Amino acid sequence: MLIDEFIAWSVRWSSRSCFAFDDGGSLVPPYAPAIPIHLYVHIPFCVQLCPYCSFHRFLFEEHAGRLYFQALRRELGIYAEKGFRFSSVYIGGGTPTVMMDELLRTIDLIGNLFSPAEISVETNPDRLDGGMLTSLARAGVRRVSVGIQSFADEVLRAIGRFEKYGSGSELARRISDSMGIVDTLNVDMIYNFPIQDRAMLEHDLETLLRILPDQITFYPLMVSQATRSQMERIMGRVSPSQERSFYGRITDALEDVYAPNSAWCFSRGGTPMIDEYVVGGEEYVGAGSGAFGLVNGAINANTFSLPEYIRMLEKGSLPIRHRRVFSVKELARYNLLMNLFGLKLDLQGFRKRFGRSIWGLLGPEILFFALVGALHFSPSQIRLTRRGRYYWVIMMREFFTGVDNFREQSREAAGL
Ligand code: SF4
Repeated sequence: MLIDEFIAWSVRWSSRSCFAFDDGGSLVPPYAPAIPIHLYVHIPFCVQLCPYCSFHRFLFEEHAGRLYFQALRRELGIYAEKGFRFSSVYIGGGTPTVMMDELLRTIDLIGNLFSPAEISVETNPDRLDGGMLTSLARAGVRRVSVGIQSFADEVLRAIGRFEKYGSGSELARRISDSMGIVDTLNVDMIYNFPIQDRAMLEHDLETLLRILPDQITFYPLMVSQATRSQMERIMGRVSPSQERSFYGRITDALEDVYAPNSAWCFSRGGTPMIDEYVVGGEEYVGAGSGAFGLVNGAINANTFSLPEYIRMLEKGSLPIRHRRVFSVKELARYNLLMNLFGLKLDLQGFRKRFGRSIWGLLGPEILFFALVGALHFSPSQIRLTRRGRYYWVIMMREFFTGVDNFREQSREAAGL
């Protein structure tokens, strides 16, 4: 446990400088890299807002939604004019399927401008039906991810999803009925809610192993500074020791049927849908209000204000509002974090990218994780051990909590 706490503390500490962004006018616009990169597109609207959620999202309103999608298509057009090419596209939110006609028009434009090899879309259970999935599949979407969080009615009630999306058994039925329409249907789950006990977790696992979705992503509950007090009022305090034991149980229960393809994602064949477009540490553009991107060694964040987002694009400029240029060491650490989150790091690829061996650049970090039994070495790769997978869950939890905290500060600064 001491090691767990030390790892969590060190990621919190480095995230603080990582998210110390420059603000304002002197931003250098990104230029197109020589090779195709990834594209993340953010749709920040939901029909209802969940109390534990710290994503950048607004209550859906049709007029604002239409203006937003128009601005988004302008932003994509600017990237095309600048010569950007995208190999894969991940459309997340919010609820991207909240306006299907606008979403399909946007996917169509993405196909015409960039011809990406794969497009993935997130949705919510109330939107999940055969008609919607068929429309997405016809538009070229191969992978759909649906946020379920839990099948236990007590948990669903506590997080306000029972009334919104139905009981656990209704959710399970809806997923079963939706299988086989797109190549990969991913189910997002969350564990370690303070009111969740072992029996509720077992119920979640039994339900999943009965309906057998193509892929399961099991996130630990992540609580940002802004949502902490509300969460604790509703459900109590989050327990790190329960997180560790629940993670062990999840990996044990799923391993006969599912193979891990990241520290918290489990796939049973087909094309894995790694819903973190960041996995692998490669560069990506973030389009949409509040979206992040990593381009030319700098992390960029678009404005969180919807009026400003729309205004900037009407003037023909990219809506980037915050930027932070990474040092070589920071980029190497980011690369280590994201590659091993995807379970392996290619040593030759690392040397090619940074001009030095991983031991030369990140010797103390590698030594520490080797000593605590997190890494397995071969001549060409470093792989995460089973123990290391939980250490990476801790690090990614803290990293995303850092992102959430930055998001909350930016939303506050934008008057939201
Ligand atoms: S959890 Fe999902 S549905 Fe709920 S507010 Fe956040 S983005 Fe919207």
